[in-house]
Order: sequence, then structure tokens, then C-alpha cells
Amino acid sequence: MPASHLNDELNIIDDLGHEQPAAVADETRPWRILVVDDDAEVHNATAFALQDIRIDGRPLAFIHAYSAEEALAEIAADEDIAVALLDVVMEHESAGLDLVRRVRQDLGRSAMRIILRTGQPGYAPEMRVIREYDINDYKTKSELTRVRLLTTLTTAVRSYDQLRTIMDARRGLALIVDTAADLLARRDPGDFAAAALAGACRLVGGGDDALLCAHRQRFANYPGDTPLFVIGARGRFAGSLGQPLKDCGAPGTLAAQAGAERRSLTDGGRAAFFIAGENGHDAVLYLETTAALTPELRQIVEVFCVNIGVGLENAGLIADLSFSAFTDRLTRLANRSGFVARLDDHMRSGTRGWTMALLDIDHFSELNDALGHHKGDQLLLSVAQRLCNILTPGMVLARVGGDVFGLLGPDAMLDPRLLLDHFKTPFLVDEYSLPIKATLGLTRLDEVGDSDGIDLLKATNIALNRAKSGDRGRWHYYTEDMARETRSRLDRLHDLRIAVTQQRGLELHYQPQVELISGKLIGAEALIRWRGPDGEFIRPDLFISLAEYSGLIVDLGAWVFKTAVGQLHEWEAKGLPSDMHMAINVSLVQFRDPLFLTRLRNALAETGIAPQRIELEITESVAMLEADTVIGILSELKEMGIQIAIDDFGTGFSSLAYLHRLPIDRLKIDRAFVRDLDSKSGSGASIAQTVIGLGRSLGLSVIAEGVETEAQAKLLMDLGCPLAQGFLYSRPVDAEAFLAWGRARR
Ligand code: C2E
Ligand code: CA
Ligand code: CA
Repeated sequence: MPASHLNDELNIIDDLGHEQPAAVADETRPWRILVVDDDAEVHNATAFALQDIRIDGRPLAFIHAYSAEEALAEIAADEDIAVALLDVVMEHESAGLDLVRRVRQDLGRSAMRIILRTGQPGYAPEMRVIREYDINDYKTKSELTRVRLLTTLTTAVRSYDQLRTIMDARRGLALIVDTAADLLARRDPGDFAAAALAGACRLVGGGDDALLCAHRQRFANYPGDTPLFVIGARGRFAGSLGQPLKDCGAPGTLAAQAGAERRSLTDGGRAAFFIAGENGHDAVLYLETTAALTPELRQIVEVFCVNIGVGLENAGLIADLSFSAFTDRLTRLANRSGFVARLDDHMRSGTRGWTMALLDIDHFSELNDALGHHKGDQLLLSVAQRLCNILTPGMVLARVGGDVFGLLGPDAMLDPRLLLDHFKTPFLVDEYSLPIKATLGLTRLDEVGDSDGIDLLKATNIALNRAKSGDRGRWHYYTEDMARETRSRLDRLHDLRIAVTQQRGLELHYQPQVELISGKLIGAEALIRWRGPDGEFIRPDLFISLAEYSGLIVDLGAWVFKTAVGQLHEWEAKGLPSDMHMAINVSLVQFRDPLFLTRLRNALAETGIAPQRIELEITESVAMLEADTVIGILSELKEMGIQIAIDDFGTGFSSLAYLHRLPIDRLKIDRAFVRDLDSKSGSGASIAQTVIGLGRSLGLSVIAEGVETEAQAKLLMDLGCPLAQGFLYSRPVDAEAFLAWGRARR
């Protein structure tokens, strides 16, 4: 409906003094007149005398009762009877007065006017009774000519109308006063809105369908440009909660117009009350009612609206405070806490068939570094905007981490294929067109049973990590198996933490390194062993990554270093070669530990071991990962005199140029190539040959690991590899066995 047309149909109610022409509305609201008499003739005569009569523009409607009981039933059923024309003497002499007493006292009807009529003059009640029962008039039937009847009735009707107005106002004001304290104490906007709507509906009567709308930037936390949205909804509008007004149909249109024109509007039984707020924080109360929206009633509602305005201001202030706690500053979306709260709400609501998702922007930190933080922010905003477009009512979008968005919505809306479709076209950031990809972790909420928001976030994060680490697909749904794995990982982490902090169950084993030609012992590699709580050895492959992931590797590594250096010292005293070295594995995480170098120095100083006898093994992939960190620390180590070996060489992707920049001493040929050396099909020989050649040209020493057979040892020697380590010589053994092995070699 075009706005102008709509306008014509609206009555503007902010100029309450000037009543609009009453014709249409009042035809539907006749004065209800009850005629009580046991004589049918009186009914007919009354109706005839008063036919086509209007009082103040409103017609009359007659209700007929022929006994006191009938009359009582009619009055009980109809709250809006203006006047009762009542025969005093019916079944018995006091039947009429008994009825009056019951109406006033038992039914509590004080507004209805009563005109007593009697056939015989001798039955006039005493003045005391007339006053006590608030009887308007007492007339004998013969006195009541048509004109007398009409004037008496008109007076009674007007007085009824005034009484009703006053009583309604008083009732309304009492209700306003009653609810004010409760309303103003509410701090949560949603809570407040619900209470305000309940009050408004009670006040107006005649319906339970209402909306409270306020400005979105105030209470909600998603971007958008619709100024008013629904913060409270009641009755058949309940589903509109959280929606912008433009999505609320005709009620939304009327409410939006009231908001835009900053005044209250009515349209038949529909009313939008404008509530002016400070700093443009206006609100609109919309309701639909079958009750007559009289000017007096509207005035009372306006008074109530003042309370709503004040209350909103209060709730708004609090909301502003909690806003920052639950809102991401950049996108104005919910933040992690806000998202968790919405998840909690959702789980409490018992809604079925919903999914939550975490969406991670691939390689965001690299983009952020490359483009600068300002452009990084803009990229996040445009991703947020694009995701916003897919939201339907009730769905939630949040920014739960730097480049991770949280989504909550119906299963079908969060289909990962659909979500990722939104990343098919590049994102525009200033002059850049950025082809962005994303990874998703999802949880079907029906499948997780009783969980809270935090648990759900964790679960979905597990799925997200799975999706990120996996090479199949860009998304992963959370499953119970994942939970089990995660739990056992956590259990193991717990055990490992105890082992590391209390140094229980940890041991070092040592594997000799030999010169291929002479078989001479030249060094040992320290390899960690962990005997878990059940007494079984747990393989390092299984717990080293856990220790790295949890940061425990820092303490663990420090312990390894101290123990291995101490062992070398002890062996020397017990007769092993004083020039043999100790190779120790280090992880990248340890490099990031600011105390790393200090710990090394201290351990060396304690034992007096020369730094040249210590060799650190870092894997090729680690050396490649963080070039700047790695090169910096390696150079310092070099300065101290410590030797560096690149472990698992050949498995990574070192470029020659990069290798050249690294201050290293040795390459360690990965055992996979050694294993393939004597197999016919393997490419081991050619790779081993390449590594050996590379080492020679870079002036680096080369050692082969995983040598298990004499044939392998021979081939390596032929290829020019000088050093080896492997089961052929010895498995990793404890310190005592190693000592025995070393002594036997001499
Ligand atoms: P790595 O550094 O490549 O260690 C060599 C692995 O090869 C050891 O496995 C060793 O037992 C095994 N090995 C030695 N000779 C042979 C052979 O002839 N044939 C075969 N098939 N295997 C052989 P282990 O002890 O299970 O260690 C696994 C990995 O755990 C190590 O691989 C290393 O990356 C890591 N690791 C062990 N100790 C430490 C430590 O103290 N710190 C750190 N950061 N990592 C460690
Ligand atoms: Ca190693
Ligand atoms: Ca290795």
C-alpha cells in the first residue's frame, strides 16, 4: 500500500483535544440499555418511545429481561450496559431493589446507571436506599412521558460515560503505577520489552497482539541499516522478535511510519504509539485491539509509553554496558561471549533441527601481514557483510575469534556447500580483489544432546581443526568419535603434564652413531621414552606432537637437554670417547621459548661440556617453517659453538638457496631413503646420492639414519656417506646398556 494512501486512513492522535468526526466508529458502539420488567407491554412501549434515538451520536441497543434473575445474568455477562430501566416491583415487592443491591455489591458494577420505574406511586424507596445504591432516578411509569424518558435517559447515559471514563482512567493509572516499579527494575532489554507489552495489552484490553520496536544499533548487534527492529513481540506477532520492521508486514509499516514521523498513529483497531527517547533512541509500541481506542484510553496508553521510554533508557544503558562485553567492536556482531550466550539460549529453547558452524578464513594472518591491518579489517567486514546476507530470522552470526565466524541456524541454511558457495567470488578490498577461501567445522545440535554453549564451541572447534588439518574437503561435522579421541588426547595430555612436571616415567635412551668405514663410535642420539601410568612405553610419535601442541615440550625439552648433557659428562668419566657428541632433537616451539639459549648455556656450564660436543637436530620442515626465527636462533647457537643437524633431510622442500643461508653442520638422510636403498624399485639410492652430493658441495657433513642391513651400510659407503646410525649397530638403549655397548666397541 503506498504511503500516501495509508496516510488517508490514519487518524492522528497526538492532538487528542480535537475529536475526529465520530460517525463511522460510533455506529458500531451503541449505548446498551437494559429494560427489566415482567410486563412485556412495558418493553414494547419503551422500545417504541426510544426508537431511532441517538445520544451524543450513538444509537441505543436494547437488552430485555423479564425477571430479576434474567436481568442479573445479562448484567453479569455484559460489562458495558450503560443504563438499566428497572421495574421496582416484579415477582415480589422488593425484587427490583434486591437486584440493585446485588448489582452494586456482589457484581461491583458501579458505573451502570439505574433508573427505577414503578407502576404505583406508593412504592417509592427511601432516600437512604437511593443514595446507598446509587440510583439515578426514580419515576412512576406515568411520569415518564416520551420526552421525560428521553431526558432522563440522556442524563443517565452521559453520566455513565463519564463514570466509565474516569474509572477506566483510574484503573489504567493504577495499572501504570503498579507496573512502573517492576518495569523500571528490568535490566535486560528483552525482559523489559516482554513486561512492557504485557502491561500495554492489559491496559488496552481487547487483544494480546503487540510489538515493541527500538533502534537496532542500541540493542542488537548485527550490522544493517533498518533503523527500528522488534525488541519485544507478543501474541500472534511473537515470531517477529528480532526482525527489522520491514519484515513485519502491515504492523511493521504502521510502526515504521510512526517512528519516521515521530508521532502516534491509529488505523481502526491498530495503533502505533511513538515513544520519544534521548539521543534519537526512539521506540514504537504497536498493538491491535478490539477495544475502542477512545481518546481517553489513548491518553492513558501515552502515559504508559512515557514509562516505557524511561525504562528503555534504563535497559538501554545497561545494554550499552553489556553491549561491549558481548559485541565485537569491528563488525558489531556478537563476540565469542555473545555467541556462547545465544547458543545457551538456543539450547534452552529446545528447538530441533539446528546446526552451528565455525567458519575460518584460510590464510588470514598472512593476508593481514601482507596487506596491513586496515585492509585486513576491511576484509573481515566484507566477509561479515556477505555472511549477514544469508541470515534469516532467528539465525545468529558472530565473530568468535580473529578470523573465525560463528553461525547458528536451521540445518538446511547452514549446509556447508551453500556456505562455501558464498566464497566463490572474490572479496573487494579497496583496489584489491581477494580470492578468499574458508574452512568450516559444524555441529548438528540434535546430535550432541545436553550441552551448553561453551561445550558446543569446543566441539565445533574440534571439527574445524579436523577440517583444517585434513586434506579431504573444506568442512567437517563434529562426531562422537571425535569427542572420544579428543578426550583420550586430553587424558594423555593430563598424564604427560604430570610426567613432565614431576619427572616421572620419563627416560632417555641413546642410539650410537658410528663412522661407516671404521665402525668407530662418534656420538649418540638422545631419544625420549615415556612409560605411561600403566607401565607401557608410549611411542614418542604419539606424545611429542601433544607436548608441542600444549607447550609442554618447552619443559620437556629442557629436561632432555639437561639429562643428555649430564649423561655425556658421566660417560666420559666412565671411559667413553671424550670427543663423542650428543645429538638432541629440538622442536620449533622450543625455539620460540625466550629462555631456550639460557637453559642451554646453564646446562653446559654445570657440566663443563664443550658446546662443540652438542648437536641439535631440527627437522627440515621446521627449518623451513619460520625462516626468520630459525635463522636468528641458529646463528646464535653457532656463535656459542653448538653444532646443528637437519633431521629427516629429503622429506621437506628446502630450496638450495635457503639451505645455503642456514648456519648448519650436518644433513641427516631420512631413514625412508635408506630403507629404499637396497629395494629394486626404490628411488632411495638416487635421493641418498643427491643428499650426499649436496652435503659435499655445501661443505656439510652427512649421516644416514635407519641403517638396518650390511647391504645398506655398504651402499652408503659406496655413495660416499661417512656416518651412520641404525639398528644394524644398536637400537636405542638405556644409558647403562649404551655404556656397555661403547666399551665393547673400543
Ligand atoms: P627421529 O629424530 O627421526 O628419531 C629417529 C627414530 O628412528 C627413532 O624413533 C629411532 O628409534 C628410530 N630408528 C633408529 N634406528 C632405526 C632403524 O634402523 N630402523 C628403524 N625403522 N627405525 C630406527 P623414536 O625413538 O620412536 O623417535 C621418534 C621421533 O620422536 C624422533 O624421530 C624425533 O622426531 C622424536 N623425538 C624423540 N625424542 C625426542 C626429543 O627428546 N625431543 C624431540 N623434540 N623430539 C624427539
Ligand atoms: Ca632425530
Ligand atoms: Ca630422523
